[in-house]
Amino acid sequence: MSMQDVELVIVGSGPAGYTAAIYAARAGLAPVVLAGSVTAGGALMTTTEVENFPGFTDGIQGPELMEAMRAQAERFGARIIYDDATCLALTESTKVIETSSSGTFQARAVILAMGSAYRKLGLPEEARLSGHGLSWCATCDGFFFRDREIAVIGGGDSAMEEALFLTRFAAKVTLVHRRGEFRASRIMAERALADPKIDVVWNSEVAAILGEANVTGLRLRDTVTGTERVLDVAGTFVAIGHDPRSELVADQVSTDAEGYVIVAHPTTRTNVAGVFAAGDLVDHNYRQAITAAGTGCASALDAQHYLSTLD
Ligand code: FAD
Repeated sequence: MSMQDVELVIVGSGPAGYTAAIYAARAGLAPVVLAGSVTAGGALMTTTEVENFPGFTDGIQGPELMEAMRAQAERFGARIIYDDATCLALTESTKVIETSSSGTFQARAVILAMGSAYRKLGLPEEARLSGHGLSWCATCDGFFFRDREIAVIGGGDSAMEEALFLTRFAAKVTLVHRRGEFRASRIMAERALADPKIDVVWNSEVAAILGEANVTGLRLRDTVTGTERVLDVAGTFVAIGHDPRSELVADQVSTDAEGYVIVAHPTTRTNVAGVFAAGDLVDHNYRQAITAAGTGCASALDAQHYLSTLD
């Protein structure tokens, strides 16, 4: 396989990776973007309407937004390769990045922007209904459920937070939890339990998400008795955790207990010289397209500065 020498490799093609590519390309770094073989464009490729990305008065479809970012990066000379990074050697001054079928790259700097995966329920209808009443992000999609009845799946702090936030819009929020008590901190759990708009269904798991074009309800299975029943809801928010995609690099760059890459805030520098990280891969808190784009921009500026110190 061929070995190619480049200045900068960006791994990942969500808002963080593509924004880094736009800035790096405009700075003349001719970055190579490893976009991923199946999910190029990142998390927004799986959604419909994005209403909170600034600049689009009437909203924009997620895939359309990502396509525009890709085209913008290419316009300035970014090279986008629809392949996966399979092995990264980052600790030496020359970074070596192997791909599945596009050869090996040697780079002087690397930006990690692999995002994080929302944990799924593992049901076959999940992909079909994502963006059609099934969501992983209350901040993004709560607004679509004004005066509707919805469900939140989960029992940790983020499920409580999502449920409480959704009470601003929804007529009623049902928290569905597979155990008999929440894993969430006491204060968050108490706040959720005290909210008049929130109901809790204990010891229940989702056996199926119902609906053809849009979510119409959930088939719930009692984890103790095995009996099933239908809960009618117009929307369902899954809040059972996230897995940052750091497994390829976790033995080389510092990560926290949950696997998020640690950066020297407010920069995007990791503990390894010449390696920067951006987007949901480093972000526990905000997980928005605009914040990912923001740190993607910062990572390109940090990489550009680092490369200029090598010259
Ligand atoms: P991602 O978008 O996750 O992109 C990471 C990319 O890296 C992926 O393309 C992946 O394939 C690639 N990758 C991973 N590993 C490798 C590898 N080894 N080699 C090559 N490539 C690799 N946010 C909003 O602001 N507004 C919304 O309305 C909104 N709606 C959402 C709806 C859904 C259904 C989901 C799932 C998320 C939504 N979000 C929304 C959140 C937003 O999508 C994320 O915060 C954002 O996409 C994070 O960007 P990122 O670039 O860090 O990572």
